[in-house]
Order: sequence, then C-alpha cells, then structure tokens
Amino acid sequence: GAQVIDGKAMAADLRGQVAGHVARLQTEHGVTPGLAVVLVGEDPASAVYVRSKGRMTREVGMTGFEHRLPAETEEATLLRLIGQLNVDPNVHGILVQLPLPAHIDEALVIGAIAPDKDVDGFHVTNIGRLATGQAAMVPCTPLGCLMMLRRSLGDLSGREAVVIGRSNIVGKPMAQLLLREGCTVTVAHSRTRDLPQVARRAEILVAAAGRPGLVQAEWIRPGATVIDVGINRVTDAEGQQRLTGDVDFAAASQVAAAITPVPGGVGPMTIACLLANALAACCRAHGLPAPDGLTA
Ligand code: NAD
Repeated sequence: GAQVIDGKAMAADLRGQVAGHVARLQTEHGVTPGLAVVLVGEDPASAVYVRSKGRMTREVGMTGFEHRLPAETEEATLLRLIGQLNVDPNVHGILVQLPLPAHIDEALVIGAIAPDKDVDGFHVTNIGRLATGQAAMVPCTPLGCLMMLRRSLGDLSGREAVVIGRSNIVGKPMAQLLLREGCTVTVAHSRTRDLPQVARRAEILVAAAGRPGLVQAEWIRPGATVIDVGINRVTDAEGQQRLTGDVDFAAASQVAAAITPVPGGVGPMTIACLLANALAACCRAHGLPAPDGLTA
C-alpha cells in the first residue's frame, strides 16, 4: 500500500517551528506577531474554523484578535474595520473568514486588505506576485500541499502534475506553485473531457473538486503522489455523518506511492500555514527575513 502522508504530524511539527520563531522574535526583538480574524455572521462551519484558528494562534504564542460582526453589518462598516487593522502596528496578519453575507462584495473587501497583511493570499496583488515569481503571501491550502509534496518527493522539477479544480482559493494557486517548482502542470475541472485519462498522466495528482470519491483507483498512475484537498460531509451506511475526501482512499492506496488521508491530511496543514504566513508577515513588517522553510 501507499505511504500515508501524515498531515497532522507535519502540521504539529510546523506549528512547533513557528512557536520557536515567535519566542525568538519576542526575546530578540520584543515583537509578538498578531493575527486578526474577522467573522461576519453566524455560519456554523465558519465559527468552528475561526475558533480553531484563534486557539492555534494563541498556542504558538501569537496574539489573536477576533472581530465578530453581526450578519447585517454594512459593507462600509467592515471596510472601516479593515482600514483600522491595516494601520494597527500590533496586527501583522488579517484574515476575513469567507463566505461573507450576500450583501457584501467579497472582492471589494479582500481588495481592501493591505497586501502585506493578507495572510490568506487572496488579494489580487499577492495573486499577481505569485504568478510573476515575486515574493508573495501564498494561499494556505496550496502552500500546505506544496510542503507535503516537497517532504514526500524532494525536488519537484520536471514532474507531471495534474490539479483537479480551478478555484481561486485552491486550484489556481496550486497550479501556479507547481509551475514555479518546475512541474509540467495540467489544470482539469468540471468541463475537462476524459478526466480519468488526464489524471493518469500525473506523477503528482492534486484533487480539489469537492466531489466525494471522484478520483478512483483506475485514474491514478502507479507510483503517483496523491494530495486530497477535498473536505466533503457525507452520511455513511450507518447513518453517521463523516468527512471524506475527493479520492477513493482505500482503492487509491493500492496504486499510489503516497497519499494524504481525509481527515488528517491537507486540513491541519492549512491552519499551520496560516500561522507561518502570519509569522512571515510580522518578520517582514520589522525588516527581518522570513524564516527558511516556512514559506513558499
Ligand atoms: P470550488 O467549488 O470553488 O471549486 C471546485 C473546482 O472543482 C471547480 O473549479 C470545478 O470546476 C471543479 N470540479 C467540480 N466538480 C468536478 C468534477 N466532477 N470533475 C472535475 N472537476 C470538478 O471549491 P474549492 O474552494 O476549490 O474547494 C475544493 C474542495 O477542497 C472542497 O471540498 C473544499 O471543502 C476543500 N477545501 C479544503 C481545504 C482544506 O483546508 N483542506 C481548504 C479549502 C477547500
């Protein structure tokens, strides 16, 4: 069977490294990284994410600022808050939890975040920087995937990579990162013809479609490394709710050389990378180099 890439352990290791740097920043420079999380409305899944982000922020020794606004908050009020956070010297990273209520223009809000504090890497400036090979804040989920791929494969240069999904949050930045690493990248999506055949080209297969069990064993090139980004809530045969990825894990494990599980793969790495981004933002804000190995 395939080697199972332990995202939970890797994430704990990464958070440990971040905590070490945070402690050093404090003793050597008297600086504590601060991460502000803004939540608008009461979406239960978002509330869970925000809570665990806040807990892990404090666990690595950073300061967490939480701003919870009611669902009916006006766009202008949210923009004013972001303006304040942009100029607050104690805030090095700003994250606006998505989705926002329908009456608020998401692009406008993301665009209002100072790019150097944009720890989610969603601002067009960061997307442009990534696409043009400049130092950028890289979206946390693809960054976590890249770290797992590097750990599993070492140098990625020249590899055949296929990314399933073309969202702004996962698929597109993942493709950009793999391009930058020297992979030959194919981006597949819901309109792709003969997806199984396209997927079989991949030495590196990243599944980010949000479709449970989409990727079957026959889609996988023997010896491939498979990164399963999907987080899908399904009801199993016993009527229990559980999380599953985009890949048929049991069957795929018979063909792939390495594979990430769901849960316990990409998910934990995503939050750890958020903390790494906040640390990097803090370092740069103080004219210090971002620690090696914690960023893209
Ligand atoms: P999205 O819905 O914005 O994008 C999905 C993409 O998959 C689209 O580009 C679409 O064209 C493609 N797609 C959909 N059905 C397809 C099919 N049958 N065949 C081929 N392509 C198909 O979703 P997203 O925000 O990119 O998230 C994707 C998945 O990753 C979701 O399950 C989401 O929950 C998960 N996710 C996980 C993390 C994490 O931390 N692990 C973070 C973000 C998203």
